[in-house]
Amino acid sequence: MRDIYLFTIVFFILGLIVGSFLNVVIYRLPIMLETYWKNQAKLLLDLPVEKEGESFNLAFPQSHCPDCHAKIKFYENIPVISYVLQRGRCRHCGHKISLQYPIVELMTGVVFALLYYKFGLSYALLGGIIFSSVLIVLIVIDFQTQLLPDIITIPLLWIGLLFNLFSVYEVSLELAVLGAVVGYLLFWIIFQIFKCLTAKEGMGYGDFKLFSAISAWLGLLNLPILLLLASISGLIFAVIFRVKKNQAMPFGPAIAVSGLILFIFYPEISAFLNIN
Ligand SMILES: [Zn+2]
Repeated sequence: MRDIYLFTIVFFILGLIVGSFLNVVIYRLPIMLETYWKNQAKLLLDLPVEKEGESFNLAFPQSHCPDCHAKIKFYENIPVISYVLQRGRCRHCGHKISLQYPIVELMTGVVFALLYYKFGLSYALLGGIIFSSVLIVLIVIDFQTQLLPDIITIPLLWIGLLFNLFSVYEVSLELAVLGAVVGYLLFWIIFQIFKCLTAKEGMGYGDFKLFSAISAWLGLLNLPILLLLASISGLIFAVIFRVKKNQAMPFGPAIAVSGLILFIFYPEISAFLNIN
């Protein structure tokens, strides 16, 4: 019994550390993609391209303050603790550090602890760690840039199918594949109807792919609850962040948060809704 508490704490701390790395991905991946896209366009126009990957990638350069460019030493980079000790400011220039950093770290820590509590040491836990890390990255990137990069959503789909191929979760491979296909089609149809009725694009194709990827993990039978949860959280986000009429609201974070909640609390939610 004691071991459970010990390991829950271990996974919480592991989550804090992974969360710190996720912050790097969240910050750097959109910049790397932008460079790549610009270069693709420049190649078409025969313009000189920027070097990519050599001077800037996920591992290089070392983390530094975006304002004064002072390198961040390892003891200034302890998840959450450094942020609190430095009162959310750069030690060198006093530049404010975004609250996003400790929030992502804490969120990853709590999710990892919950996953361990739910699955114990197992392949299901490993899958959960991959699934949740990817979703946390997508939630923040979509909020900030309205992007759901294919380079993340598509592998998420394949990995979900792979875990269900080996029956890690109680989802058959048939239901996983159907979940992915129906999930995409359903959103595509809603998108087309919405476009016909309002002449506006309510969602992006990234939303379809994300919904499809999550359904590959959760299976076809969870699709209705996922859609319900995503709609409710989409409304809640719109109220919290005071989205104005005609302003684009990224739906991706709502889908991703719902997928994460359903993945962890599926039995509780289905009992609450009195299904199965
Ligand atoms: Zn600074």
